[in-house]
Amino acid sequence: MAGLLDGHVAAVTGGGSGIGQGICQAYAREGARVIVLDIDSAGARETVGLIAAAGGKASAMTLDVTDRRACNAIAVEVASSGSISILVNNAGINRRNPITADKAAVAKDWDDIMSINLDGMFNVTHAFLDQLRATKGRIVNIGSIQSFVHVTWPNSAAYTTSKHGVLGFTRSLAAELGKDGVRVNAIGPGMIETKINAEARTRNPEMVATVMRHTPLGRPGKPEDVAGPAVFLASDLAAYVTGSIVMADGGFRSI
Ligand code: NAP
Repeated sequence: MAGLLDGHVAAVTGGGSGIGQGICQAYAREGARVIVLDIDSAGARETVGLIAAAGGKASAMTLDVTDRRACNAIAVEVASSGSISILVNNAGINRRNPITADKAAVAKDWDDIMSINLDGMFNVTHAFLDQLRATKGRIVNIGSIQSFVHVTWPNSAAYTTSKHGVLGFTRSLAAELGKDGVRVNAIGPGMIETKINAEARTRNPEMVATVMRHTPLGRPGKPEDVAGPAVFLASDLAAYVTGSIVMADGGFRSI
């Protein structure tokens, strides 16, 4: 049976863990050749192993998205075996300190979160832009419910600000690149069980309960709950969808 992404080449940042790993697996299942980009080389290799075991095509490359020169170099290296037609900007971190916490810690959180969640998204997109324009490609950026709200469980203003920025970047690029046939969308996950929140979930079960009370579907999400919308947005099923954010949040934002 034909896959929804047959013939596509997809690069996924942060593809070595959690949501990124789920998206890589789903893209490969739908026929894409997947380039797994992650600062965590072992994680990227693990994703490639999972895809290969399921009969898909993938390769791993180590990349720190904050390193602009490395992003440009990777794009050149990737192009030598074929331009990408799908880019998923997924790499991201969170640190949960209130703005009133220790000044040095809060300033470091701000710098690190902005450099990965926002500068990283720019660096990778800019590096692959020529390829994406040449292939009339698709960009999927991973936002959050915090692209809209600052939730009251332990979190940081830096993370909320960065995820609002993801939405702004998505809309700006959709407006500018539509004429080139490039579609740019975002996904807004709710609470998805991954490494990024594993410690917070263990340390603070009341936080999970609070989120679930506000989640109509009544359960935390899994990476595959985000992978489905990511396949849709990258596929021709979404041929007339750009500048949008699809919420994968169990309904959190709707109530
Ligand atoms: P995750 O399991 O921690 O995966 C993130 C991956 O990104 C990790 O492999 C991480 O490597 C990698 N990474 C970190 N810094 C990087 C860098 N500078 N360059 C390249 N890769 C880097 O977290 P996740 O939950 O899947 O998060 C994926 C995205 O979803 C993030 O943008 C996050 O903000 C967003 N999101 C998650 C949730 C949720 O509830 N899980 C909700 C809303 C949005 P290391 O482990 O080595 O740092």
